[in-house]
Amino acid sequence: MTTFKITQYCGECDGYGKVADRNPINPGHSLVDCEECDGTGDIAHQEEYDSITDAQNDYPRARFTYVQSPIR
Ligand SMILES: [Zn+2]
Repeated sequence: MTTFKITQYCGECDGYGKVADRNPINPGHSLVDCEECDGTGDIAHQEEYDSITDAQNDYPRARFTYVQSPIR
């Protein structure tokens, strides 16, 4: 098994990192950092797969980075 870092666009802000802060009292809204992704626009986690093809099947729109496996 190989550990991959899987990076996906944040679904909350569509990868922009900012969301509109809609204030019902003040109709002019401003952009604030997305809480889901801390303003980065990306959500990343690590998962183990046999190959990158298997990982791509699960996350077709994600980017993948090899993670150095710790020596056991
Ligand atoms: Zn976000």
